[in-house]
Amino acid sequence: MISRTTRQVKKLILGCVLLLIASGSIGLANGPSLSFDHFYNHAELTQALQTLAASYPQLARLESIGKSHQGRDLWAIILTSAKNGPPERKPGFYIDANIHGNEIQGAEVALYTAWYLLTSYGTSEQATRLLDEKVFYVVPTMNPDSRDYYITKAADPNSPRSGQVPMDDDRDGVKDEDGPEDLNGDGSITQMRKKDPKGSYRQHPDDPRILVPIRPGEKGEYSLLGQEGIDNDGDGRINEDGPGGYDMNRNYGYNWQPNYVQRGAGDYPFCFPETQAIRDFLLKHPNIAGAQNFHNNGGMILRAPGAKNLGELPLADVRVYDYIGKRGEKILPDYRYLTVYKDLYTVYGGSIDFIYSTLGIFCFSNELDTDPSERGTDRRGQSREDEETAYLRSLQRRLDEMDYYDRVLLGDQYTDWKPYQHPVYGDIEIGGVKKFGRRVPPAFKLAETCHRNAAFCLFHADQLPRLEFDTPKITKLDDGQYQVDVSVKNTRVTPSISAQATQKKLHRMDRLAVRGNGARMLAAGQLVDEYRGLTRKLDTRADSCWVEGGIPGFGQTDVRLLVKGTGDLTLVYDSLKGGTVETVVKLQ
Ligand SMILES: [Zn+2]
Repeated sequence: MISRTTRQVKKLILGCVLLLIASGSIGLANGPSLSFDHFYNHAELTQALQTLAASYPQLARLESIGKSHQGRDLWAIILTSAKNGPPERKPGFYIDANIHGNEIQGAEVALYTAWYLLTSYGTSEQATRLLDEKVFYVVPTMNPDSRDYYITKAADPNSPRSGQVPMDDDRDGVKDEDGPEDLNGDGSITQMRKKDPKGSYRQHPDDPRILVPIRPGEKGEYSLLGQEGIDNDGDGRINEDGPGGYDMNRNYGYNWQPNYVQRGAGDYPFCFPETQAIRDFLLKHPNIAGAQNFHNNGGMILRAPGAKNLGELPLADVRVYDYIGKRGEKILPDYRYLTVYKDLYTVYGGSIDFIYSTLGIFCFSNELDTDPSERGTDRRGQSREDEETAYLRSLQRRLDEMDYYDRVLLGDQYTDWKPYQHPVYGDIEIGGVKKFGRRVPPAFKLAETCHRNAAFCLFHADQLPRLEFDTPKITKLDDGQYQVDVSVKNTRVTPSISAQATQKKLHRMDRLAVRGNGARMLAAGQLVDEYRGLTRKLDTRADSCWVEGGIPGFGQTDVRLLVKGTGDLTLVYDSLKGGTVETVVKLQ
C-alpha cells in the first residue's frame, strides 16, 4: 500500500500533466495541438477533424458518412497505418458519441482519442502498434444538430436529448410549437418555483436557494413548476412540445419496441437520418470487433443486455466483458462496470444491443462523469441508515452541492432566484443550475475525462483478437499427400468470433486456406485430442475449410489438414473480425 502523501504527489503530477495537455502546451509529437479545455461546436469540431486528417495523410482519413436532419455532416475519422494490409482486413475498433444532444463531452473524448493516436504514432509503442495492427473508426458526434443547439442556444443540462426532426409531441397538429423559453435571459433554461403554502417543498434551513421536500407533518412553502417557459400554444400546458421529442438510442433495429412501450422509439427502427447513417456505416465495416459509445452521466462502464427479455449473454462473452470492464474500473477509478438493464434501466432498441447482438461486436457504453450532487449517493450500508440520519445527510449533500457552485465554479453555472411575473402562474421565481453546471465536466476537468476514457478505448482496442501461427508440423504420407498440423493462437481476450455470433450465425466463420503449387485441401478436422489423434470434421472446400467458433480469447485452435501439393505451401488464416495471418511451410 502506498502512503497517502505518495498518492497525493502522484495525483498532483498527473494533474499537472493533464493541465499541460489541456493547455495544449505539450504536443505529444510535432502534430497540431488541440485544446481540451472547452467544448467544440460543430464548426470547430469539423475544423479540428480536418486539421488532423490534413496533418496525418498517411494515418487518417475524414469521411462524411451522412447528413443530420438539418444538413450537418456526420463525420467519421478513420485511423490506421499502411502496414499489415488494407484497413478492412484489420480488426476494427469503433467509437461514437453524443447520440443524445445534451451529452456533449463524448465528442471531446472521441476527438482526444484520435488526436492522441495520431500525435503519438512513432513515439509511443502502444499507439504505433495499435495503428499498425488495428483500424479505428471514430464518430465524435451522432447528433450535431442538437449538439449545436445545446452549446449555442438556451438549454438545460438534460435537453435537447432528442435530434431536431420536428415532432408533434402534444398531438395538436402542430410540431415543436411549445418549447421552453429563457425568461430571465441568462442563456440557460433554468427552473421556475412559486411561493405556495400548499406546496410540497420548503426552503433548506441553511440556504434559502435550495428547496427540500417537506416531511410528513411539515408545512409546505413552495411548489416547483419545472423548466422556464410559457404556454405558447394556449392549451393550458407549458413546454409540452419542444424541439424534437424522440430518443435515437431507442431507435436501433434490435429488440425495438413501439412508442407506447419504449418512449422515444420513433415510428420504426432506423427512421432517423442519423441512426440510418450509423447503421449503414457499421454494416459496411464488418471487420469491427470492438465498440464504444459515450454518454453522460454517472460514471458507468455499461454492457449489454439493455432489457431482461434478451436473457443473459453467453458465458464465454460475459467473461470477455468482465475482463475488459473490470480493468476499466482501474483506468476510470470513479466508474463502475455494470449491466444496462440490471443496474441502470431497461432500454429497448438501444445501440449497445444492436451492435453486440446483431453484429457480434463487443460494445461498452460509458456514462461519463459524476455530478457533485450524486457523489456519495451509492454507498453500500447507507440503505441501513435510519430515516433521520439519511435525511440529515441529504440536507448536507445539498449544501455541499451549493458550495461547489459557489466556491469551485465561482458562481458561473448558477443563477440566483429572481422574481418574475408569469402569464399563467403570476408571481414566481426563476433560477437554479445553468446548462453546463450538471452532467458535463467543468472545463478544468475535461482533459482528465478525455484522457482516461481514451485510455480505456485503447485498452479495449488492444484486447481485440491478435492471431499468430505456431510452427506447423508436417508429416509426409503416401501418394504426394501431407498431414499438416496447424495451431493458431490468440494472445488477447477477445475471441476471433463472439459466442453470440457463433450461436446466432451472425456473420461468416473464420477460414483456413492453403495456397501453393497444386495445393489442395483434401480434408480438415479440428484436433480435439492430440494424443489419440481425434478430430472433429470441418467443412472443406477445394483449398480451404471453415473454422467454426474461430480462435478463443487467450487460447488456440488446433487443426489437422490433409493436403496435396509440392514446394512452398502458404497457410492463410482469415478471420472477418480477427484479421488475416499467414505462414509458409515446405512440403518435402
Ligand atoms: Zn445518453
